[in-house]
Amino acid sequence: MSTQQRPHSARLYEEALKHIVGGVNSPSRSFKAVGGGAPVFMQRASGAHFWDVDNNRYIDYLAAYGPVITGHAHPHITEAIIRAAQNGTLYGTPTELEIKLALMLKEAIPSMDKVRFVNSGTEAVMTTIRVARAYTGRSKIIKFAGCYHGHSDLVLVAAGSGPSTLGIPDSAGVPVSIASEVITVPYNDLDSLRTALERWGDEVAAVMVEPIVGNFGMVMPKPGFLEELCRLTRAAGALVIYDEVISAFRFHYGSSQTYAAFPDHAAIGPDLTALGKIIGGGLPIGAYGGRKNIMEQVAPLGPAYQAGTMAGNPASISAGIACLEVLKTPGAYEQMERLAVRLTQGIQAAADEHGVALTINRIRGAFSTHFCDHPVTNYEEAQDTDSEQFAEFFRLMLDQGVCLAPSKYEAWFLTTAHTDEDIDNTVTAAAKAFSAMRG
Ligand code: PMP
Repeated sequence: MSTQQRPHSARLYEEALKHIVGGVNSPSRSFKAVGGGAPVFMQRASGAHFWDVDNNRYIDYLAAYGPVITGHAHPHITEAIIRAAQNGTLYGTPTELEIKLALMLKEAIPSMDKVRFVNSGTEAVMTTIRVARAYTGRSKIIKFAGCYHGHSDLVLVAAGSGPSTLGIPDSAGVPVSIASEVITVPYNDLDSLRTALERWGDEVAAVMVEPIVGNFGMVMPKPGFLEELCRLTRAAGALVIYDEVISAFRFHYGSSQTYAAFPDHAAIGPDLTALGKIIGGGLPIGAYGGRKNIMEQVAPLGPAYQAGTMAGNPASISAGIACLEVLKTPGAYEQMERLAVRLTQGIQAAADEHGVALTINRIRGAFSTHFCDHPVTNYEEAQDTDSEQFAEFFRLMLDQGVCLAPSKYEAWFLTTAHTDEDIDNTVTAAAKAFSAMRG
């Protein structure tokens, strides 16, 4: 692979900066965290590959931050979208398709008696919080440091100092009064959760968690963490909300609740679950659901209001159904895992050979690369990694036609479209990158 030139991307970035704030429609797309400069403007994608506006080809491990698990332009999903478009993309009425996708979600996620579709993960999470507050009559939320739950006010809150603290706004424009409703504790730390619940328990509406973390790398809960989190939360009279916007259907056909690695967990499960990404097959979607009596708080049955002009639109729902159908193909997850194992083994071996300290957290077909020589089990450990080395690695990989997310906290995602050849080429590129980093 040769070093790629991207003059057209550079020109488009200059143009975009004039009209679109920061030149990007989501800050995670900017290259700010990897040294700045023009992001790559893609013009076409098929399977596991991207082509940019300069006609460079890339192997894609971004998968659009998760949703594109079947690879780009999968024929089954594309056909479903075309069919939906031909029949009209938006009705503002209920459709039979919505029932079909709701049933598929319910079958896969046992704690979801009732579902509601929205348009993004942000909306889904935001609404679970409203529903939990309506149901419990309480207002505080406990969340875990480093878990990302979208950009609504309530979850854009970081920890203050100390292991268990009331939040401070993580963004300008989030009122301190709202942030003070949020308590942040470290992930995988039951003692801090216990302390927070002892102190604020009777004011807490919900404990919100990414059961398997995807936002400070891929991080598994320690054995017993989720089970005890559920027990402690319920004992305090609060609800458990799982944000499975990344994790649902990522590791197996279902959610963390039914993930085989947590055998004692299935019967406990969350009260409410927020979904997005994969369940829309690459079109905008979100969904939330949970136990019947809790979900019946939502309008028109109950007093908690939530609505959406675009919600349940036939295009997104059709793409979602088609995506889940592809994921039901026997062996789909095993294939992604097999390739991820080969890839991570190859990358780790190359890093070791060149003396680059690297910790890889892999969960089936997804993984994260942390430039450090210690395990990464929480946000603090993920922060304590070499940002400059990651930035250098990111650029060296990009220049060899391997597209990663421009942030050390984001995951690499395998899709059903990646091949052994992609893996071999990526390992070769990684070895060259590590060699250059040492050189
Ligand atoms: N929750 C989690 C766990 C996420 O990773 C994200 C997005 N990366 C969101 C919520 C927000 O989803 P969206 O970007 O669709 O609003």
